[in-house]
Amino acid sequence: TDLSLIRNFSIIAHIDHGKSTLADRLIQYTGGLSEREMSEQVLDNMDIERERGITIKAQTVRLDYTGKDGKTYQLNLMDTPGHVDFAYEVSRSLAACEGALLVVDAAQGVEAQTLANVYQSIEHDHEIVPVINKIDLPAAEPEKVRAEIEEVIGIDASEAVLTSAKSGIGIEEVLDAVVARIPPPKGDRTAPLKAMLVDSWYDPYLGVVILVRVIDGVIKKGLQVKFMAGGTEHLIDRVGCMRPKLQVLDELGPGEIGIITAQIKEVAQARVGDTITTVKQGATQALAGFKEVQPVVFCGLFPVDAADFEKLRESIGKLRLNDASFSFEMESSAALGFGFRCGFLGLLHLEIIQERLSREYDLDLITTAPSVVYRLTMTDGTVKELHNPADMPDPVKIREMEEPWIKATIYTPDEYLGSILKLCQDRRGVQTGLTYVGGRAQVSYELPLNEVVFDFYDRLKSISRGYASFDYEQIGLREGDLVMMNILVNNEPVDALSMVVHRSQADPRGRHLVERLKDLIPRHMFKIPIQAAIGAKVIARETISAMRKDVTAKCYGGDISRKKKLLEKQKEGKKRMREYGNVTIPQEAFIAALRMG
Ligand code: GDP
Ligand code: MG
Repeated sequence: TDLSLIRNFSIIAHIDHGKSTLADRLIQYTGGLSEREMSEQVLDNMDIERERGITIKAQTVRLDYTGKDGKTYQLNLMDTPGHVDFAYEVSRSLAACEGALLVVDAAQGVEAQTLANVYQSIEHDHEIVPVINKIDLPAAEPEKVRAEIEEVIGIDASEAVLTSAKSGIGIEEVLDAVVARIPPPKGDRTAPLKAMLVDSWYDPYLGVVILVRVIDGVIKKGLQVKFMAGGTEHLIDRVGCMRPKLQVLDELGPGEIGIITAQIKEVAQARVGDTITTVKQGATQALAGFKEVQPVVFCGLFPVDAADFEKLRESIGKLRLNDASFSFEMESSAALGFGFRCGFLGLLHLEIIQERLSREYDLDLITTAPSVVYRLTMTDGTVKELHNPADMPDPVKIREMEEPWIKATIYTPDEYLGSILKLCQDRRGVQTGLTYVGGRAQVSYELPLNEVVFDFYDRLKSISRGYASFDYEQIGLREGDLVMMNILVNNEPVDALSMVVHRSQADPRGRHLVERLKDLIPRHMFKIPIQAAIGAKVIARETISAMRKDVTAKCYGGDISRKKKLLEKQKEGKKRMREYGNVTIPQEAFIAALRMG
């Protein structure tokens, strides 16, 4: 294809501003979708994504559009993941394009996530076409939003396209703007092959499907290629594009975006950001920007019913086929039995995996408190990474403990600012900036990630009634006065509840936990002390008083069948209990305790 007829673009938007709806409209308008197919959002093709309105995996579609000049253009529309956990995937998708549509909700205006993504897009030298969407809403204020885009982002919005993706207004104008304003790609057909691996996913029929952007050269069936960072070689057996259904093509030339398959079994072998070249006479220098993504949040996943362990192992293995960005290894806990220690890109990623396991694989799971990765420098000079609080070495052997920090950007209506500053302050945040734009505040904070993995999003959403938006990037490790806090039930530590906390947070967190557990653990025939302790020092304590009489006592001499029924019930319930020392703790207690902030 003539390079001048290609346009590669992505859509950036804050969650819910209408990215998927607009994408579907563009596909429909250019003939890729029928009205009926349009009723389901095509680009967000997983249930969880649809429910939460987020895009987890980037997808790309090719559209043919005949412009005002009568020429037919190849438009490659790339949908980018909409969540900060997938920032690296977003950056690769953006690197594969020359421009972006910036979709802003006409009633909501610019939000934190819009900002983060748009700045990334600007860094990639993109031409940005502002699209003010949802102009059908009574609360829409397109002119105000236009001014805001200029003031906050600093790009020209005088020619912003006004749309209602929902009612199909302005769709042709968007397509014309793409053709007219986004530059065509550059590339050299005769140079050695260089293609960027933008994304990969597992398809039950095709195996691993790889989304590529060809920079130079040509990629076709039968070509022996190598993945420069991965170090593996593969035979290309299929080349094509998504329309949004798969269409097989003869080749992908420079500037084009499309998919390839090469009999690859696991997505872990096709890492985002890698450079694909030919085995013979290939490129010698890989494309810039490859990065191995590392999990940043870890937690334990345990089956509620120990008999489900094998099923859990299998299910995790299957999910991993499609998501190389989470890690897992077997773990055993005295409290929870056998399970897996899993690593995720962020909290949302954790929730997605957890939800898919319970929903798609019908597993009942307990998740332990999420933990970040700490770096320990031992007194003998060795350095360790701590993924699991249970592996915490003896504190006297630790010289220094470091924790990951993030830079958070929060965008909020003025009225919630006070409570948000307090929340950040309570979480050991260091304020680094505060600016006002049109009645809204943009605050930047440096925060320990450890404080964010505990219910920070939830708190932020609830104190701002959902109006505050949040985005973050990691900024490295810092030393912290961190301690291991254990929870003891009847004087025995419960491993699943131990956690690493900052010394200043240990008291309130320990107190909160023991209070919660006091309500959650049923009474026994004896008194049960519940304690939070740092080493030998108890920092919080509650006692569950002994039960006064036997549950079945009231049945003495009475109705035998009723007594039997009760015992039957007890048996059922016991399956869901864990014996701890001689205290029986219901699963619900763990789950509820682990949900706390
Ligand atoms: P995304 O999170 O950016 O992909 O947003 P979606 O496309 O999923 O849209 C979020 C919500 O806004 C959905 O309920 C859409 O139906 C709705 N929506 C999208 N575009 C419009 C529009 O132009 N007008 C109105 N009124 N609603 C819209
Ligand atoms: Mg979406």
